[in-house]
Amino acid sequence: MAAFGRTQLLKLAQMSSMSLNGAGSATRTMGAGQLGLGDSQKRFKSKTSRLAKILPKAKYGGRHTVTMLPGGGIGPELMGYVREVFRYAGVPVDFEEVNINPNTEGNEDLEYAITSIRRNGVALKGNIETKSLSPNVMSRNVALRNELDLFVNVIHCLSYAGVPSRQKDIDVYLIRQNTEGEYAMLEHESVYGVVECLKIVTRENSERLARYAFDFAKKHGRKKVTTIHKANIMKTSDGLFLEISRQIAKEYPDIQHNDMIIDNCCMQLVSNPHQFDVMLMTNLYGSIVSNVICGLMGGAGLLSGRNYGTEYAIFEPGTRNTGTSIAGKNIANPISMMNAAADLLHHLRLENHSVWLREAIDQTINVDKIHTPDLGGQATSMDVVKNIVNYLQAKTKVENW
Ligand code: ATP
Repeated sequence: MAAFGRTQLLKLAQMSSMSLNGAGSATRTMGAGQLGLGDSQKRFKSKTSRLAKILPKAKYGGRHTVTMLPGGGIGPELMGYVREVFRYAGVPVDFEEVNINPNTEGNEDLEYAITSIRRNGVALKGNIETKSLSPNVMSRNVALRNELDLFVNVIHCLSYAGVPSRQKDIDVYLIRQNTEGEYAMLEHESVYGVVECLKIVTRENSERLARYAFDFAKKHGRKKVTTIHKANIMKTSDGLFLEISRQIAKEYPDIQHNDMIIDNCCMQLVSNPHQFDVMLMTNLYGSIVSNVICGLMGGAGLLSGRNYGTEYAIFEPGTRNTGTSIAGKNIANPISMMNAAADLLHHLRLENHSVWLREAIDQTINVDKIHTPDLGGQATSMDVVKNIVNYLQAKTKVENW
Protein backbone atom coordinates (compact mmCIF):
# COMPACT_ATOMS: atom_id res chain seq x y z
CA MET A 1 0.00 0.00 0.00
CA ALA A 2 2.83 2.36 0.88
CA ALA A 3 4.10 2.17 -2.72
CA PHE A 4 0.84 3.71 -4.00
CA GLY A 5 0.63 7.45 -3.61
CA ARG A 6 -2.66 8.94 -2.47
CA THR A 7 -3.15 10.63 -5.84
CA GLN A 8 -2.69 7.34 -7.66
CA LEU A 9 -5.23 5.65 -5.43
CA LEU A 10 -7.73 8.42 -5.99
CA LYS A 11 -7.21 8.12 -9.72
CA LEU A 12 -7.82 4.38 -9.53
CA ALA A 13 -10.92 4.90 -7.49
CA GLN A 14 -12.23 7.32 -10.09
CA MET A 15 -11.39 4.88 -12.83
CA SER A 16 -13.33 2.16 -11.12
CA SER A 17 -16.43 4.25 -10.58
CA MET A 18 -16.28 6.05 -13.92
CA SER A 19 -15.30 2.97 -15.95
CA LEU A 20 -12.94 4.64 -18.38
CA ASN A 21 -12.56 3.17 -21.83
CA GLY A 22 -9.49 2.42 -23.84
CA ALA A 23 -9.19 5.99 -25.03
CA GLY A 24 -9.49 7.48 -21.57
CA SER A 25 -7.12 5.09 -19.88
CA ALA A 26 -3.53 4.63 -20.75
CA THR A 27 -2.53 1.08 -21.58
CA ARG A 28 0.93 0.94 -20.15
CA THR A 29 3.53 -1.62 -19.35
CA MET A 30 5.46 -0.67 -16.28
CA GLY A 31 8.42 -2.01 -14.47
CA ALA A 32 8.63 -3.63 -11.06
CA GLY A 33 7.39 -1.54 -8.20
CA GLN A 34 5.39 0.74 -10.44
CA LEU A 35 1.66 0.74 -10.80
CA GLY A 36 1.60 -1.24 -14.04
CA LEU A 37 -2.05 -1.60 -14.88
CA GLY A 38 -1.38 -2.96 -18.36
CA ASP A 39 -4.22 -3.96 -20.65
CA SER A 40 -6.60 -4.88 -17.88
CA GLN A 41 -7.04 -1.19 -17.19
CA LYS A 42 -8.97 -0.69 -20.42
CA ARG A 43 -12.48 0.11 -19.31
CA PHE A 44 -15.72 0.28 -21.15
CA LYS A 45 -17.48 3.61 -21.48
CA SER A 46 -20.60 4.07 -23.53
CA LYS A 47 -20.56 6.71 -26.24
CA THR A 48 -24.04 7.77 -25.25
CA SER A 49 -23.27 8.55 -21.62
CA ARG A 50 -23.39 12.31 -22.19
CA LEU A 51 -26.94 11.99 -23.54
CA ALA A 52 -28.12 10.02 -20.52
CA LYS A 53 -29.63 12.91 -18.64
CA ILE A 54 -31.64 14.24 -21.59
CA LEU A 55 -33.21 11.02 -22.81
CA PRO A 56 -36.84 10.86 -21.65
CA LYS A 57 -38.13 7.47 -20.45
CA ALA A 58 -40.17 5.64 -23.08
CA LYS A 59 -43.88 5.18 -22.35
CA TYR A 60 -46.28 4.98 -25.25
CA GLY A 61 -50.08 5.11 -24.84
CA GLY A 62 -49.99 4.17 -21.16
CA ARG A 63 -47.80 1.14 -21.85
CA HIS A 64 -44.30 0.75 -20.45
CA THR A 65 -41.36 -0.30 -22.55
CA VAL A 66 -38.77 -2.37 -20.71
CA THR A 67 -35.39 -3.55 -21.99
CA MET A 68 -35.09 -7.33 -21.89
CA LEU A 69 -31.59 -8.83 -21.76
CA PRO A 70 -32.07 -12.61 -21.85
CA GLY A 71 -28.36 -13.44 -21.44
CA GLY A 72 -27.05 -17.02 -21.74
CA GLY A 73 -27.94 -20.47 -20.37
CA ILE A 74 -31.46 -20.58 -18.95
CA GLY A 75 -31.96 -16.81 -19.46
CA PRO A 76 -33.85 -17.00 -22.79
CA GLU A 77 -36.32 -19.67 -21.63
CA LEU A 78 -37.00 -17.82 -18.36
CA MET A 79 -37.71 -14.66 -20.35
CA GLY A 80 -40.12 -16.62 -22.54
CA TYR A 81 -42.05 -17.61 -19.38
CA VAL A 82 -42.21 -13.99 -18.22
CA ARG A 83 -43.63 -12.92 -21.61
CA GLU A 84 -46.22 -15.69 -21.36
CA VAL A 85 -47.27 -14.74 -17.82
CA PHE A 86 -47.48 -11.03 -18.70
CA ARG A 87 -49.60 -11.82 -21.76
CA TYR A 88 -52.13 -13.87 -19.75
CA ALA A 89 -52.26 -11.31 -16.96
CA GLY A 90 -52.76 -8.39 -19.38
CA VAL A 91 -49.71 -6.55 -18.09
CA PRO A 92 -49.24 -3.25 -20.01
CA VAL A 93 -45.53 -3.81 -20.66
CA ASP A 94 -43.75 -4.19 -24.00
CA PHE A 95 -40.26 -5.63 -24.09
CA GLU A 96 -37.41 -4.38 -26.22
CA GLU A 97 -35.17 -7.44 -26.45
CA VAL A 98 -31.44 -6.94 -26.76
CA ASN A 99 -29.08 -9.88 -27.15
CA ILE A 100 -25.43 -9.43 -26.29
CA ASN A 101 -23.20 -11.84 -28.19
CA PRO A 102 -21.01 -13.59 -25.56
CA ASN A 103 -18.30 -14.39 -28.11
CA THR A 104 -17.62 -10.94 -29.49
CA GLU A 105 -14.88 -8.67 -28.17
CA GLY A 106 -16.57 -5.61 -29.67
CA ASN A 107 -18.82 -3.35 -27.64
CA GLU A 108 -21.63 -2.71 -30.17
CA ASP A 109 -24.20 -4.98 -28.49
CA LEU A 110 -23.33 -3.61 -25.07
CA GLU A 111 -23.63 -0.02 -26.36
CA TYR A 112 -27.03 -0.84 -27.77
CA ALA A 113 -28.17 -2.43 -24.49
CA ILE A 114 -27.06 0.60 -22.50
CA THR A 115 -28.79 3.03 -24.87
CA SER A 116 -31.96 0.96 -24.65
CA ILE A 117 -31.89 0.97 -20.81
CA ARG A 118 -31.26 4.71 -20.81
CA ARG A 119 -34.27 5.18 -23.05
CA ASN A 120 -36.56 2.86 -21.09
CA GLY A 121 -35.15 3.49 -17.62
CA VAL A 122 -35.48 -0.12 -16.61
CA ALA A 123 -34.48 -3.65 -17.64
CA LEU A 124 -35.17 -7.30 -16.88
CA LYS A 125 -32.01 -9.33 -17.19
CA GLY A 126 -30.59 -12.85 -17.27
CA ASN A 127 -26.91 -13.50 -16.68
CA ILE A 128 -24.85 -12.32 -19.64
CA GLU A 129 -21.85 -14.44 -20.51
CA THR A 130 -18.52 -12.94 -21.52
CA LYS A 131 -16.58 -15.76 -23.13
CA SER A 132 -13.46 -13.80 -24.09
CA LEU A 133 -10.52 -14.49 -21.81
CA SER A 134 -8.81 -11.27 -22.87
CA PRO A 135 -8.24 -8.92 -19.93
CA ASN A 136 -9.32 -6.10 -22.27
CA VAL A 137 -12.86 -7.41 -22.35
CA MET A 138 -14.74 -6.60 -19.21
CA SER A 139 -17.61 -8.73 -17.91
CA ARG A 140 -20.74 -7.41 -19.66
CA ASN A 141 -22.67 -7.62 -16.40
CA VAL A 142 -20.11 -5.51 -14.55
CA ALA A 143 -19.85 -3.02 -17.45
CA LEU A 144 -23.63 -2.52 -17.46
CA ARG A 145 -23.79 -1.91 -13.73
CA ASN A 146 -20.82 0.47 -13.80
CA GLU A 147 -21.93 2.40 -16.83
CA LEU A 148 -25.46 2.92 -15.48
CA ASP A 149 -24.07 3.64 -12.01
CA LEU A 150 -26.24 0.96 -10.40
CA PHE A 151 -24.38 1.27 -7.12
CA VAL A 152 -26.66 -0.84 -4.96
CA ASN A 153 -27.89 -4.42 -5.19
CA VAL A 154 -30.80 -5.39 -2.94
CA ILE A 155 -31.85 -8.99 -2.30
CA HIS A 156 -34.75 -9.87 -0.05
CA CYS A 157 -34.02 -13.30 1.39
CA LEU A 158 -37.46 -14.43 2.52
CA SER A 159 -38.09 -18.12 3.16
CA TYR A 160 -40.81 -20.07 1.35
CA ALA A 161 -42.71 -22.10 3.92
CA GLY A 162 -43.46 -24.82 1.35
CA VAL A 163 -39.85 -25.39 0.30
CA PRO A 164 -37.81 -28.04 2.12
CA SER A 165 -34.73 -26.16 3.32
CA ARG A 166 -31.91 -26.27 5.86
CA GLN A 167 -33.14 -23.15 7.62
CA LYS A 168 -36.71 -21.88 7.98
CA ASP A 169 -38.24 -18.42 8.48
CA ILE A 170 -35.35 -16.37 7.14
CA ASP A 171 -36.23 -12.74 6.47
CA VAL A 172 -33.07 -10.74 5.71
CA TYR A 173 -32.30 -7.90 3.33
CA LEU A 174 -28.86 -7.84 1.68
CA ILE A 175 -27.59 -4.42 0.61
CA ARG A 176 -24.51 -4.93 -1.53
CA GLN A 177 -22.08 -2.48 -3.13
CA ASN A 178 -22.46 -3.14 -6.84
CA THR A 179 -19.87 -1.18 -8.81
CA GLU A 180 -16.47 -1.33 -7.15
CA GLY A 181 -14.65 -3.27 -4.40
CA GLU A 182 -13.29 -6.59 -5.59
CA TYR A 183 -15.14 -6.22 -8.92
CA ALA A 184 -13.07 -3.23 -10.04
CA MET A 185 -11.44 -5.63 -12.52
CA LEU A 186 -8.08 -3.95 -12.16
CA GLU A 187 -5.51 -6.72 -12.38
CA HIS A 188 -1.98 -6.52 -13.64
CA GLU A 189 1.23 -8.48 -13.65
CA SER A 190 3.70 -6.07 -12.06
CA VAL A 191 6.69 -8.33 -12.73
CA TYR A 192 6.71 -11.77 -14.31
CA GLY A 193 4.96 -14.21 -11.99
CA VAL A 194 3.52 -11.54 -9.69
CA VAL A 195 -0.10 -10.59 -10.28
CA GLU A 196 -1.85 -7.86 -8.35
CA CYS A 197 -5.59 -7.32 -8.14
CA LEU A 198 -6.91 -4.02 -6.85
CA LYS A 199 -9.89 -3.73 -4.57
CA ILE A 200 -11.32 -0.23 -4.77
CA VAL A 201 -13.28 1.27 -1.91
CA THR A 202 -14.26 4.91 -2.24
CA ARG A 203 -15.64 7.19 0.43
CA GLU A 204 -18.30 8.49 -1.95
CA ASN A 205 -19.72 5.09 -2.92
CA SER A 206 -19.42 3.65 0.59
CA GLU A 207 -21.25 6.66 2.01
CA ARG A 208 -24.16 6.58 -0.38
CA LEU A 209 -24.47 2.81 0.04
CA ALA A 210 -24.48 3.04 3.85
CA ARG A 211 -27.02 5.85 3.71
CA TYR A 212 -29.15 3.76 1.35
CA ALA A 213 -29.01 0.83 3.82
CA PHE A 214 -30.03 2.89 6.84
CA ASP A 215 -32.75 4.76 4.93
CA PHE A 216 -33.98 1.43 3.66
CA ALA A 217 -34.05 -0.02 7.19
CA LYS A 218 -35.98 3.01 8.46
CA LYS A 219 -38.47 2.97 5.60
CA HIS A 220 -39.13 -0.76 5.92
CA GLY A 221 -39.41 -0.85 9.71
CA ARG A 222 -36.22 -2.85 10.16
CA LYS A 223 -34.41 -2.74 13.48
CA LYS A 224 -30.78 -3.55 12.78
CA VAL A 225 -28.05 -3.06 10.16
CA THR A 226 -24.97 -5.32 10.24
CA THR A 227 -21.88 -4.27 8.29
CA ILE A 228 -19.97 -7.27 6.91
CA HIS A 229 -16.23 -6.76 6.38
CA LYS A 230 -12.70 -8.07 6.71
CA ALA A 231 -11.24 -4.95 8.28
CA ASN A 232 -8.98 -7.01 10.55
CA ILE A 233 -6.92 -7.92 7.46
CA MET A 234 -7.86 -5.28 4.86
CA LYS A 235 -7.48 -2.52 7.38
CA THR A 236 -7.50 0.38 4.94
CA SER A 237 -10.07 -0.66 2.32
CA ASP A 238 -12.59 -2.56 4.43
CA GLY A 239 -11.54 -0.30 7.29
CA LEU A 240 -12.87 2.70 5.34
CA PHE A 241 -16.10 0.88 4.46
CA LEU A 242 -16.64 -0.03 8.12
CA GLU A 243 -15.69 3.39 9.46
CA ILE A 244 -18.14 5.09 7.09
CA SER A 245 -20.97 2.75 8.03
CA ARG A 246 -20.31 3.57 11.70
CA GLN A 247 -20.40 7.29 10.94
CA ILE A 248 -23.66 7.05 9.01
CA ALA A 249 -25.17 4.83 11.74
CA LYS A 250 -24.90 7.76 14.15
CA GLU A 251 -27.44 9.64 12.02
CA TYR A 252 -29.98 6.84 12.65
CA PRO A 253 -30.19 6.44 16.42
CA ASP A 254 -33.35 4.30 16.18
CA ILE A 255 -31.59 1.62 14.19
CA GLN A 256 -29.16 -0.69 15.91
CA HIS A 257 -25.80 -1.11 14.19
CA ASN A 258 -23.21 -3.83 14.57
CA ASP A 259 -20.53 -5.38 12.39
CA MET A 260 -19.21 -8.84 11.68
CA ILE A 261 -16.19 -10.30 9.90
CA ILE A 262 -17.15 -12.15 6.72
CA ASP A 263 -15.77 -15.54 7.88
CA ASN A 264 -17.74 -15.48 11.10
CA CYS A 265 -20.73 -14.11 9.17
CA CYS A 266 -20.84 -17.23 6.95
CA MET A 267 -20.71 -19.49 10.01
CA GLN A 268 -23.39 -17.44 11.79
CA LEU A 269 -25.60 -17.52 8.69
CA VAL A 270 -25.50 -21.30 8.61
CA SER A 271 -26.05 -21.77 12.35
CA ASN A 272 -28.36 -18.85 13.19
CA PRO A 273 -29.47 -16.68 10.25
CA HIS A 274 -32.32 -15.23 12.31
CA GLN A 275 -29.97 -12.83 14.10
CA PHE A 276 -29.66 -10.79 10.87
CA ASP A 277 -32.04 -8.11 9.68
CA VAL A 278 -30.37 -5.81 7.10
CA MET A 279 -26.82 -6.71 5.99
CA LEU A 280 -24.55 -4.10 4.42
CA MET A 281 -21.46 -5.25 2.52
CA THR A 282 -18.93 -4.78 -0.25
CA ASN A 283 -19.31 -6.42 -3.65
CA LEU A 284 -17.65 -9.83 -3.27
CA TYR A 285 -18.99 -10.46 0.25
CA GLY A 286 -22.45 -9.74 -1.19
CA SER A 287 -21.96 -12.47 -3.76
CA ILE A 288 -20.78 -14.95 -1.12
CA VAL A 289 -23.46 -14.11 1.43
CA SER A 290 -26.31 -14.22 -1.12
CA ASN A 291 -25.17 -17.65 -2.31
CA VAL A 292 -24.88 -18.97 1.26
CA ILE A 293 -28.37 -17.73 2.15
CA CYS A 294 -29.89 -19.06 -1.08
CA GLY A 295 -28.34 -22.45 -0.33
CA LEU A 296 -29.94 -22.40 3.11
CA MET A 297 -33.34 -21.44 1.72
CA GLY A 298 -33.64 -23.87 -1.18
CA GLY A 299 -31.18 -22.89 -3.91
CA ALA A 300 -30.48 -20.53 -6.78
CA GLY A 301 -33.89 -20.74 -8.41
CA LEU A 302 -35.98 -18.73 -5.97
CA LEU A 303 -34.80 -15.23 -5.14
CA SER A 304 -34.60 -12.08 -7.24
CA GLY A 305 -32.10 -9.24 -7.05
CA ARG A 306 -32.64 -5.54 -7.74
CA ASN A 307 -29.97 -3.16 -8.98
CA TYR A 308 -30.55 0.54 -8.41
CA GLY A 309 -28.79 3.78 -9.19
CA THR A 310 -30.14 7.30 -9.15
CA GLU A 311 -31.51 7.02 -12.72
CA TYR A 312 -32.00 3.40 -13.72
CA ALA A 313 -32.95 -0.01 -12.38
CA ILE A 314 -32.24 -3.59 -13.48
CA PHE A 315 -34.09 -6.63 -12.14
CA GLU A 316 -32.65 -10.16 -12.33
CA PRO A 317 -32.34 -13.49 -10.48
CA GLY A 318 -30.65 -12.91 -7.11
CA THR A 319 -27.61 -15.12 -7.48
CA ARG A 320 -27.00 -14.19 -11.15
CA ASN A 321 -26.55 -17.77 -12.38
CA THR A 322 -26.29 -18.82 -16.01
CA GLY A 323 -27.40 -22.43 -15.47
CA THR A 324 -25.87 -23.59 -18.76
CA SER A 325 -25.98 -27.28 -17.80
CA ILE A 326 -29.76 -27.22 -17.26
CA ALA A 327 -30.65 -24.96 -20.22
CA GLY A 328 -33.26 -26.22 -22.70
CA LYS A 329 -34.33 -29.16 -20.47
CA ASN A 330 -37.55 -27.67 -19.10
CA ILE A 331 -36.26 -28.13 -15.53
CA ALA A 332 -34.94 -24.66 -14.61
CA ASN A 333 -36.84 -23.09 -11.77
CA PRO A 334 -38.63 -20.03 -13.20
CA ILE A 335 -39.43 -18.53 -9.77
CA SER A 336 -36.29 -16.34 -9.43
CA MET A 337 -37.10 -14.63 -12.74
CA MET A 338 -40.82 -14.43 -11.83
CA ASN A 339 -39.83 -12.68 -8.61
CA ALA A 340 -37.62 -10.33 -10.65
CA ALA A 341 -40.65 -9.65 -12.89
CA ALA A 342 -42.79 -8.89 -9.81
CA ASP A 343 -40.08 -6.46 -8.60
CA LEU A 344 -40.14 -4.83 -12.03
CA LEU A 345 -43.93 -4.40 -11.91
CA HIS A 346 -43.67 -2.85 -8.45
CA HIS A 347 -41.00 -0.47 -9.76
CA LEU A 348 -43.30 0.53 -12.65
CA ARG A 349 -46.06 1.14 -10.08
CA LEU A 350 -48.20 -1.60 -11.63
CA GLU A 351 -49.03 -2.57 -8.08
CA ASN A 352 -52.02 -4.84 -8.75
CA HIS A 353 -50.11 -6.91 -11.25
CA SER A 354 -47.11 -7.11 -8.97
CA VAL A 355 -49.17 -8.27 -5.99
CA TRP A 356 -51.08 -10.84 -8.07
CA LEU A 357 -47.88 -12.27 -9.47
CA ARG A 358 -46.45 -12.62 -5.95
CA GLU A 359 -49.69 -14.29 -4.83
CA ALA A 360 -49.46 -16.67 -7.80
CA ILE A 361 -45.87 -17.55 -6.85
CA ASP A 362 -46.89 -18.12 -3.24
CA GLN A 363 -49.81 -20.32 -4.29
CA THR A 364 -47.60 -22.35 -6.65
CA ILE A 365 -44.66 -22.87 -4.29
CA ASN A 366 -46.24 -22.94 -0.83
CA VAL A 367 -49.78 -24.20 -1.35
CA ASP A 368 -49.88 -26.30 -4.55
CA LYS A 369 -46.21 -27.24 -4.04
CA ILE A 370 -45.36 -27.40 -7.75
CA HIS A 371 -41.60 -27.84 -7.33
CA THR A 372 -38.88 -28.23 -9.96
CA PRO A 373 -36.00 -30.72 -9.32
CA ASP A 374 -33.75 -28.10 -7.65
CA LEU A 375 -36.36 -27.96 -4.85
CA GLY A 376 -36.60 -31.75 -4.69
CA GLY A 377 -39.75 -31.94 -6.86
CA GLN A 378 -40.53 -33.50 -10.21
CA ALA A 379 -42.39 -30.65 -11.89
CA THR A 380 -41.15 -29.10 -15.11
CA SER A 381 -40.56 -25.38 -15.60
CA MET A 382 -43.74 -25.33 -17.72
CA ASP A 383 -45.79 -26.92 -14.90
CA VAL A 384 -44.76 -24.06 -12.62
CA VAL A 385 -45.55 -21.44 -15.26
CA LYS A 386 -48.95 -23.00 -16.07
CA ASN A 387 -49.89 -22.95 -12.40
CA ILE A 388 -48.96 -19.27 -12.16
CA VAL A 389 -50.94 -18.48 -15.31
CA ASN A 390 -54.00 -20.38 -14.02
CA TYR A 391 -53.94 -18.39 -10.79
CA LEU A 392 -53.56 -15.09 -12.64
CA GLN A 393 -56.36 -15.92 -15.07
CA ALA A 394 -58.73 -16.70 -12.21
CA LYS A 395 -57.62 -13.56 -10.43
CA THR A 396 -58.01 -11.26 -13.42
CA LYS A 397 -61.54 -12.65 -14.06
CA VAL A 398 -62.58 -12.00 -10.45
CA GLU A 399 -61.04 -8.53 -10.52
CA ASN A 400 -62.81 -7.94 -13.85
CA TRP A 401 -59.69 -7.22 -15.84
P1 ATP B 1 -23.87 -24.18 -15.16
O1 ATP B 1 -24.03 -22.75 -15.60
O2 ATP B 1 -23.21 -25.03 -16.16
O3 ATP B 1 -25.16 -24.78 -14.63
P2 ATP B 1 -22.27 -23.07 -13.08
O4 ATP B 1 -21.29 -23.68 -12.16
O5 ATP B 1 -21.84 -21.92 -13.95
O6 ATP B 1 -22.89 -24.23 -13.95
P3 ATP B 1 -24.35 -21.40 -12.12
O7 ATP B 1 -24.96 -20.99 -13.39
O8 ATP B 1 -23.59 -20.38 -11.36
O9 ATP B 1 -23.51 -22.70 -12.23
O10 ATP B 1 -25.49 -21.98 -11.15
C1 ATP B 1 -25.15 -22.61 -9.93
C2 ATP B 1 -26.03 -23.83 -9.72
O11 ATP B 1 -27.37 -23.42 -9.55
C3 ATP B 1 -25.98 -24.77 -10.92
O12 ATP B 1 -26.04 -26.08 -10.41
C4 ATP B 1 -27.24 -24.43 -11.66
O13 ATP B 1 -27.75 -25.51 -12.41
C5 ATP B 1 -28.20 -24.07 -10.51
N1 ATP B 1 -29.24 -23.11 -10.92
C6 ATP B 1 -29.07 -21.82 -11.22
N2 ATP B 1 -30.23 -21.24 -11.55
C7 ATP B 1 -31.17 -22.19 -11.45
C8 ATP B 1 -32.56 -22.24 -11.68
N3 ATP B 1 -33.26 -21.16 -12.06
N4 ATP B 1 -33.21 -23.41 -11.48
C9 ATP B 1 -32.55 -24.51 -11.08
N5 ATP B 1 -31.23 -24.54 -10.85
C10 ATP B 1 -30.54 -23.41 -11.03
